[in-house]
Amino acid sequence: MDDFDPAELSDERLAVRFSLDSCRDCGLCSQSCPSTRHGGIDPHEVVRGLIDGRPEEDVWDCLLCYICDDVCPVGIHLPLLITHLRYRSAISGEAPQRFVRGAKSFLKEGRGFPAGPRTAKLREEMGLPEMQNGDRAMRELGKVVSRTRFTHE
Ligand code: SF4
Ligand code: SF4
Repeated sequence: MDDFDPAELSDERLAVRFSLDSCRDCGLCSQSCPSTRHGGIDPHEVVRGLIDGRPEEDVWDCLLCYICDDVCPVGIHLPLLITHLRYRSAISGEAPQRFVRGAKSFLKEGRGFPAGPRTAKLREEMGLPEMQNGDRAMRELGKVVSRTRFTHE
């Protein structure tokens, strides 16, 4: 974005913007998080990391399921915070390749995964029509991409 200020994504600014000092350290977010349960991201550690200036959790392990958002007693919007941290990671060129591939596929074909012969076979078995990239849909996607500056570097 032309007017985007990377400082907005500093630990300090994010901590203020998301009112992280209101965290009660109750741990409910982490106890409810399916990713934490399977060795992934620990949302309470994300909050503590930003407050204490410790290394971050791997924000790309978040499933964006919003469970932590529902259970937080003080209303800290963890999924949105994690989305900001992902953005920070992406503009630093640190997004995992699997996400970069998905984004490229989305821009090219309108979906976040390549539709190869396996997809075609599965669709056929399920009685679904052949997958097509409608010109109109791709034009509309182009408008969304342009307006949201999805491709800005
Ligand atoms: S949104 Fe992310 S951090 Fe929150 S509960 Fe779901 S997986 Fe965990
Ligand atoms: S649920 Fe909310 S208050 Fe509790 S540890 Fe997580 S972020 Fe902090």
